[in-house]
Amino acid sequence: MHAEPLQIRNFIDGEFVEPIGGKYVDNIEPATGKPYSQVADSDAQDIDLAVAAAEKAFADWSRKPAAERSRFLLRIADLVERDLEKFARAESIDTGKPISLARSLDIPRAIANFRFFATAILHAESEAHITDNVAFNYTLRQPRGIAGLISPWNLPLYLLSWKIAPAIAVGNTAIAKPSELTPTTAYMLCETCHEAGLPNGVLNVVHGTGPNVGAAITAHPKINTISFTGGTVTGRKVAEACAPLFKKVSLELGGKNPNIVFADADLDAAIAGSVRSSFANQGQICLCGSRVFVERSAYKGFVERFIGRTAQLRLDDPLDEKTDQGAIVNKMQLDKIKFYVDLAQKEGGKIALGGSTPQPPNERCREGYFFQPTVITGLPVSCRTNREEIFGPVVTITPFDHEEEVIAYANDCDYGLASSVWTQNLSRAHRVAERINTGTVWVNCWLLRDLRVPFGGMKQSGVGREGGEEALRFFTEPKNVCIAK
Ligand code: NAD
Repeated sequence: MHAEPLQIRNFIDGEFVEPIGGKYVDNIEPATGKPYSQVADSDAQDIDLAVAAAEKAFADWSRKPAAERSRFLLRIADLVERDLEKFARAESIDTGKPISLARSLDIPRAIANFRFFATAILHAESEAHITDNVAFNYTLRQPRGIAGLISPWNLPLYLLSWKIAPAIAVGNTAIAKPSELTPTTAYMLCETCHEAGLPNGVLNVVHGTGPNVGAAITAHPKINTISFTGGTVTGRKVAEACAPLFKKVSLELGGKNPNIVFADADLDAAIAGSVRSSFANQGQICLCGSRVFVERSAYKGFVERFIGRTAQLRLDDPLDEKTDQGAIVNKMQLDKIKFYVDLAQKEGGKIALGGSTPQPPNERCREGYFFQPTVITGLPVSCRTNREEIFGPVVTITPFDHEEEVIAYANDCDYGLASSVWTQNLSRAHRVAERINTGTVWVNCWLLRDLRVPFGGMKQSGVGREGGEEALRFFTEPKNVCIAK
């Protein structure tokens, strides 16, 4: 496998091909602000080509026994594991995230995705229903055809594999579009699939921008299933494009997640967990807890210790092993973060830590896109800073007086992706978890994932659930066969 290719081409029908229009755009390394490769700037013609390949491959792939499809996925997982270091490095360069995070979280989870769905299909149960003495029904769950898989830049391989693995495991063929900002690991995965002998056309990857390639996928009449992860504004466009064509759609969108700390919590664990949930991947994980609420009696001590611990995070070159905080993905995202930090001050907030663009120690990174981990206090719960997704290393901390109040704070938001609750009171944990309107509630933890559980958001954080059984169901069509007695 070649690490970090200089030119990232499409992968269609088992081959790397030029985009038909011949256009490429620069792929910028966030840590340096400089181009380090070029990525295909494809369009609808390339999607037509990928659809033809996926359609041709479907007939054979969808009829293969599950055990055979499973073996291909397991082989892919093994090869990614063999090349873990190369994948982690490419992901760190592409995204700006610390290489230690790519190595310990993103790539291992991508491997786990392939293994999980490879084995899940071997254990899938079928349903049968007997209608009194009249009939016997059974449900055939059949692959739907060609799946369009669109993913964002923050956890590129992890999120793309979370879609590719279940889609092809159950017998669909797929056309995947990674974010144009972080295309490298998807390119490398195509090399891996080739080496694993995955039949041509089962996985096709088309690179390019959302308006060109993403929109061509959602508009294509032969791509009947769309799994999208990204921002809420884009998700709305995807939903609008898919609705008239009656496509089956899953939307995993933005978040503004509450992280609630009760005074009875194990504060050491709550502080360590909250620093992680605030600033992991520079706060660029949809599940990051960007609104921290602390019970008033513990507030002062929590803020002091939280700030002390955050100040120790080492911001530097993402490729440096000791780095905790890497770069922001691009200039646009950096400008958005600066805008919200200014807005927070206008809304009455106090910058308790951070708030500006630092000079990373490594010379190589002087033109890169960095922002200090930033803590803001003194804001009203209902202000824009506390309602809109920033998607950067910026958290607000707000005190509360009682359980009812903090449940109302947590739910006073258009998003509903995830939340954390820190308490040692078991009854309270259950009570609060039941009433917070988020797809996941973590109690005394954050980002613990069991791939069997349903995953997804409520309200404007998405529609549908992925994960485990839900994902296998999403990518199949349930057909009932009713046999009269
Ligand atoms: P984005 O919405 O800008 O882009 C996501 C993907 O959609 C990219 O591949 C992009 O090229 C494509 N796209 C853009 N316009 C399109 C269009 N009109 N039609 C089809 N596709 C289009 O999001 P982003 O900036 O890459 O990622 C950050 C966002 O993703 C944040 O809001 C974050 O919360 C969210 N996210 C959500 C989850 C989740 O599981 N809920 C996970 C990770 C990230």
